[in-house]
Amino acid sequence: MALRDVIGQDRAVTILLKTLERERIPSSYLFTGDSGIGKKFTALNLAKTVNCLTPPSPPLAKGGNKEGYSQKREGYVGILDACDECPSCKKITAGIHPDFLLISPEGGQIRIEEIRAIDNVLALKAFEGRKKVVIVDDAEAMNTFAANAFLKTLEEPPRDSLIILISSSPDLLPDTIRSRCSTIRFAPLSDGACEEVLKKIIARHLPGKEKKSGKPAKPSQGREKYPPEDDLQLSDLVRLSMGRPGNAMTGDMFEERSAFVQLLQEMLRTEKDGWASKEEMERWFEFILIFLRDMAAWLVSGEAAVIINRDLKADIEKLSRETDLQGIIEIHRTLNSLRGNFRFHLNKALTWNYSGSLLRKTFGVHYV
Ligand SMILES: [Zn+2]
Repeated sequence: MALRDVIGQDRAVTILLKTLERERIPSSYLFTGDSGIGKKFTALNLAKTVNCLTPPSPPLAKGGNKEGYSQKREGYVGILDACDECPSCKKITAGIHPDFLLISPEGGQIRIEEIRAIDNVLALKAFEGRKKVVIVDDAEAMNTFAANAFLKTLEEPPRDSLIILISSSPDLLPDTIRSRCSTIRFAPLSDGACEEVLKKIIARHLPGKEKKSGKPAKPSQGREKYPPEDDLQLSDLVRLSMGRPGNAMTGDMFEERSAFVQLLQEMLRTEKDGWASKEEMERWFEFILIFLRDMAAWLVSGEAAVIINRDLKADIEKLSRETDLQGIIEIHRTLNSLRGNFRFHLNKALTWNYSGSLLRKTFGVHYV
């Protein structure tokens, strides 16, 4: 994979290509935007590009899959990308390049030990590459000690180093860190781009998949689950991922949705906290907001085509009979603002009770 394989993020990639072309790459970037839209994928391919030993030259742009790449970025003179085939590209893909480091939170935190590991990589002269590249995924997970130590690294970046912070909640990063990075914003993908990404992921996991039947091959890496088996599920996934195809493949969205419906029924019946974890609570909030959006769309139009959760149409119809549009809009607004406060570590049981009382009031008590 290379920068030309980034789908639906033309604006962000074009900005990166222009800085590469002018050879004015900043020492630190901050990639922001929702999770599952290609920030890490782009960062990895930028790391490959700056260290590629045999980058594709303009003549290559006329052939093969590079043609689409050059056409897509019309007006862009040079062709800068990774070849994805040289030893450097392959080592970065495998995570074994001596001048490359990818840091992710462990147990929900990035600790000072990880920052020391970054400093160790950056302190040395590049072994094999032109630049030492460090990617910090979910950078907002740095604890206070880590953030303070990291600030020193950002203030005095070693020569020939490139640091890429990735965050879907950049406002949780200290201002002092944010202000030292060049921010590149990534946007959710269009439905078309989302489908293209999902198809590619599926194709990657199903080598030689022309047949539609048979058990899907098991994914080779990451948190990705089995791909959907037919086009109906694919279109469901596109709708449900709402422009964030990476999220559609990081869990079994269909299973999670049945769990969501069960929890919703439970919440309307009982005050006992049913969320197993804060992560489950957060996922539940994502689903309820889409569900409420579906109810509002259904009440306004009465058309199934406008519903994202089409397979939950019966539930949406049933609950819509119990309430009115104004009630749905109000509870959507309240729950959305509650979700915005998750960063303050809301108490799970209290949040369950509060959300439950609002929903019971809006829907009428019974939904089983
Ligand atoms: Zn290469």
